[in-house]
Amino acid sequence: MKKFISIILAITLTISMSASVFAQGIHNPATCENEPVIIVRGMDFTGLYYDVGTENERPVLSVDVGKIISTVFKSVFMGIFSLNFDKSLDVICDYAVQLLGGLSMDKNGDSLYNVGVIKCPGSVAEHPELLERGDCEFGMVKSCAEKYGADHTYYFTYDWRLDPFVVAEEINETIERACEETGHDKVKIACASMGGVMTLAYLTEYGYDRVSKVLFLSSTFCGIQMPSELMQGKVKFEGQAIADIATYAVKDIPVVNVLLQLLEKAGLFDFAEKIADIIIDKTMDKVSEEVLIKILSYMPVMWALVQPQDFDKCIEYTFGDCMEENAGFINRVTKLQNMMNGRNELLYEMIDNGVDIAVVSNYGSPSIPVYESASKFCGDMVLEAHQTSGYATIAPYNKTLGDDYVAENPKYLSPDRMVDLSTAILPEYTYMIKQAPHVSCSYGTDYNAFFMWLLDYSGDNFKAGVNPDYPQFMQSNTNEELFKF
Ligand SMILES: [Zn+2]
Repeated sequence: MKKFISIILAITLTISMSASVFAQGIHNPATCENEPVIIVRGMDFTGLYYDVGTENERPVLSVDVGKIISTVFKSVFMGIFSLNFDKSLDVICDYAVQLLGGLSMDKNGDSLYNVGVIKCPGSVAEHPELLERGDCEFGMVKSCAEKYGADHTYYFTYDWRLDPFVVAEEINETIERACEETGHDKVKIACASMGGVMTLAYLTEYGYDRVSKVLFLSSTFCGIQMPSELMQGKVKFEGQAIADIATYAVKDIPVVNVLLQLLEKAGLFDFAEKIADIIIDKTMDKVSEEVLIKILSYMPVMWALVQPQDFDKCIEYTFGDCMEENAGFINRVTKLQNMMNGRNELLYEMIDNGVDIAVVSNYGSPSIPVYESASKFCGDMVLEAHQTSGYATIAPYNKTLGDDYVAENPKYLSPDRMVDLSTAILPEYTYMIKQAPHVSCSYGTDYNAFFMWLLDYSGDNFKAGVNPDYPQFMQSNTNEELFKF
């Protein structure tokens, strides 16, 4: 009798399990319209760890406010006590090296220490913790998991210091895994910020056979202005750039805004620039030798971001006296510049062969005021829109291109006359969104709905403005609501 009951129970259980499989529907890639989405995130500055996966795992950048304060005091004290500014600088440089030293690379451009990131192999179904947040890339993850299934959503993390071709290898593994696990032949890639240059390396190295769509969101696919200037020693806190960022910070407080304009007229920011110049003149050699060159120069990714017209000058400035000694590294990063120089042709070829591409660039905020020409660029407070848009012509912060500016193609001039997409590499496929924060895409926002529409669209004509709800030029606010001009 016992045996009989067990058999009946086993049969019932089997039937109920298969019934639930039928209820959910067995996934059939031939009929499923949802290709897996690979989200290549942006740079996670604090996401690097020593000895990942071991009991010694610990963050590389652990900012200790107490330590910073005590270092500043120590340095001021040393300066006053010894009447020697260099001593103060020694203390600050030592601390900076100690703080950032874990990021150091060896002279080949590989990590000096056992440093890495926490990876999420497999789909989001295996990493439900990724659904707990909803900002930026996590907003993309959450809405993709909701719409296409967590088992069709992949979140890719990487060590942002590395050679993009090394990261490309890992992107390739993730894409191959996604195809194998879901049974689909192709994927869609959404790459944000630093993810742009990494995705470009993947496409350059592995081609686009596996890719049906690429979204470049606030991305580095055309490099960044800042490293181009820093790598030539053009560190500068320029008066206009400081004024721009101060004005931007208080733009919603009219009284302070008026006060700032008065200060600007009185030349306060030019005065700040002069003080900064004196400090930089005195410190730059030491800071650049001890901190910048030691840590930044051997990060291969920086050399992919440098603008092609500045590459030789940057190499000369950084390695001028020791070219031979660094020949291996220079050879390595030259390949990255070749990749950037081949980008346009590759993207045009992809479009001709049916791959959907969209570029989304946010603009209308000042640039970070630490380099010489910062006030000539505007962006999204992190990256310059000139580069994230694929080289559109963009007016400086709070200015227009002028009343007499004539765009090569008038339809590419933004209604606020701040952007001319005629000069961009993919003008037909580029969206410009004024005042949107870097990357955006937070869960539940208009911006996120726009992102999902870009991913979803499967018509023939994937050109900016094909959907009247999402024109080529849009405006946003800090809540990522979208408005038409
Ligand atoms: Zn599917």
